[in-house]
Amino acid sequence: MALIVQKYGGTSVGDATRIKRVAKRIVETAASGAKVCVVVSAMGDTTDELVELAAKVTDREHEREMDMLLTAGERISMALLSMAIMDLGRDAISFTGSQAGIVTDTAHGKAKIIEVRARRVLEALEQGKIVIVAGFQGVSTEFDVTTLGRGGSDTTAVALAAALDADVCEIYTDVEGVYTADPRLVPGARKLHAVSYEEMLELSASGAKVLMVRSVEYARNYGVLVHVRSSFSGNEGTWVREEDIRMEQAIISGIAHDKSEAKITLVAVPDHPGIAARVFRPLADAGINIDMIVQNASHDGSTDIFFTCPKSDLQRAEPVLEQIREQIGAAGVETDPDIAKISLVGAGMKTHPGVAADMFDALAEAGINIEIISTSSIRISCVVRAGEVEKAVQAIHDKFELSDEAVLREEHPETATGQLKALRVDGSNS
Ligand code: ADP
Ligand code: ASP
Ligand code: MG
Repeated sequence: MALIVQKYGGTSVGDATRIKRVAKRIVETAASGAKVCVVVSAMGDTTDELVELAAKVTDREHEREMDMLLTAGERISMALLSMAIMDLGRDAISFTGSQAGIVTDTAHGKAKIIEVRARRVLEALEQGKIVIVAGFQGVSTEFDVTTLGRGGSDTTAVALAAALDADVCEIYTDVEGVYTADPRLVPGARKLHAVSYEEMLELSASGAKVLMVRSVEYARNYGVLVHVRSSFSGNEGTWVREEDIRMEQAIISGIAHDKSEAKITLVAVPDHPGIAARVFRPLADAGINIDMIVQNASHDGSTDIFFTCPKSDLQRAEPVLEQIREQIGAAGVETDPDIAKISLVGAGMKTHPGVAADMFDALAEAGINIEIISTSSIRISCVVRAGEVEKAVQAIHDKFELSDEAVLREEHPETATGQLKALRVDGSNS
């Protein structure tokens, strides 16, 4: 018998009508003979509202209590969904993360799942029940309630799919799948039929919030087949899976953007051995996540160091940075939150030179200045002004003709001459 894990995001269960509609969909899946385990997010903007509420009560960090508060959101939706399913005549039971056996480390607000003890979920499924699990939460090895970080219900779903050995993990959201760019930013973005774990990892890590990055890591590590699709239609969405070597691979799979980081400049840092370690070690010890780093060539024995980190880490980073500045004798620290990172992702860029140059051309033609560049083997990222993000993504999307079905593709090496060809989807050369 098939076992399916389905995850419904906040918009999909945003009000009573939507909860009832989702319940119907779940019951239909169960009626087809599959065992169904459902992971649910908090309704609509509940999590944001709870964060705002806490900010009205306190301006200090209360990590443990914050997790207690935020997990309430998913508790509401799981209970309501379970009731709606039972009203349709199917047996259902809801579990908190802790009851479902989601065991995490003790890092409040960004806990990692270290084990899934799925016995209780499995037993309920065996009894013919539809199981509803609260997403985004778990219980730590110290028996405290934890949350997995924003978007964490995706990770709950994939982790459960791995533990239950599910046939597929369906992520139901408010768009039809994974697109070549955020469809809310680029109306002409195209839905991808399939994307490899590696590419999805880069897209998610670069800001495409349709899947939380850790859920993709989990899916890759455990070989979970993920299907991202809309809860508002019956259409096939996007498959996230192992790269299929028999398929033609698109050179570029998509563009992600991220406005959540800030740029920090350490001005006039003395240029001698050991400085970089003295800058980044204390930041690492303070748990600050550094992303891009650039060090200028030195003039007159001093140099500027730029790097980016999440805006949410800034408050914690500032006193550490001030200490570092004093210790190493830098002239100043500047913080700039008005930046955005644009990333172009595609497995084909490994073998095709010129992709970076085309990306920089697109930005230059749009009159957009690049402040920082970084790359991986399948990604190129540029930092630009936050106000230019929409124009930048659109310009790169146009340059690589990502809206068109007739995209640049490379054939599998066994069948191809190794040449770059512009193929139409019907197979004819364009
Ligand atoms: P959910 O509440 O269902 O988890 P999210 O808001 O977390 O939904 O993620 C879905 C959103 O991700 C979409 O509404 C879309 O704006 C955004 N998004 C960003 N990049 C992409 C992309 N490349 N493809 C699809 N959606 C994207
Ligand atoms: N409700 C949580 C959030 O808003 C988790 C999730 O939706 O995946 O981040
Ligand atoms: Mg999400």
